[in-house]
Amino acid sequence: MRIDRSSTRIAFLGLGKMGLPMASRLVAAGWTVAGFDPAPAAADAFAAAGGTVASSAREAAAGAGVVVTMLPDGRAVRAALTGPDGVADQLAPGAVAIDMSSSAPVGTRELAQELAGAGIVLLDAPVSGGVKRARDGTLAIMVGGDITAAAAVRPLLEALGASIFETGPVGSGHAMKALNNYVSAAGLTAACEALRIGARFGLDPALMTDILNVSTGRNNSTEVKLKPFVIPKTYASGFSMALMAKDLRTADDLARHEGIPAPLSRAVAALWQQALDDLGAEADHTAIDAFLATRPTED
Ligand code: NAD
Repeated sequence: MRIDRSSTRIAFLGLGKMGLPMASRLVAAGWTVAGFDPAPAAADAFAAAGGTVASSAREAAAGAGVVVTMLPDGRAVRAALTGPDGVADQLAPGAVAIDMSSSAPVGTRELAQELAGAGIVLLDAPVSGGVKRARDGTLAIMVGGDITAAAAVRPLLEALGASIFETGPVGSGHAMKALNNYVSAAGLTAACEALRIGARFGLDPALMTDILNVSTGRNNSTEVKLKPFVIPKTYASGFSMALMAKDLRTADDLARHEGIPAPLSRAVAALWQQALDDLGAEADHTAIDAFLATRPTED
């Protein structure tokens, strides 16, 4: 398969918080991209960024050599590719589907088999780094699947990420991503709890954050989430609680699937599901802090 800027057309499905800046970067890097999102605001934003918007996913995919999906979850990806209005039969022969969403890895393996029957190679290439790094093109990208296809799409991925890892067979990128988000959510939960306890004792939360960030309690949340989103209670990181709760379920399902005891993963997944039930799908994931404030003192 030959994939290059001058001849390959890319269909980009999902122009949400992450998909919009990612698709826009591909356009800026000189790739020919047709984007689709059923949400008019998302499609309009891509058009405003200079992107070409298709009127349907199938139109975006007609003759495309690559389809990138940046959708809420693996179920949406499966529907977009192989569902009744799916795009698989629109793609060019030998096309590569790159699922950059955070999908469940076991489902990804199954989808890859289904697509292989139609002559399409599926790579999973989920990302980490959030909206800011999506804009900057400095995402971490975890690529699972066929190494020849992974090498072929690398120039495209290089427009999106600063660290690109090949993680192994198809689904391994998605497994890595879910486990990353489990570690990230556990770190955020711990940091928010620590700040609440410290504040009640009389410690200053901003000073606590400075100390954590040069001490052994430092993690990504202490570095980039506490001061902008948690301490001022803006809760506006650009990553929803619904998506984080989904990733935590994925990580916990994976632990069960592999038969690995993971009591902390189970506890964190349950806590975040409860937070989602209480705060609703629109809440930002950093609002876990607000949820913790509502917990009884003794559980
Ligand atoms: P989002 O909800 O902002 O965007 C998803 C978009 O997909 C929406 O605009 C929706 O209208 C669109 N969509 C749904 N079905 C579609 C279809 N069939 N065809 C085309 N578009 C469709 O979500 P997001 O924050 O951009 O996250 C997307 C994926 O990336 C998720 O899997 C998420 O877990 C993952 N992720 C998000 C972040 C982040 O910081 N937001 C970081 C890393 C990974």
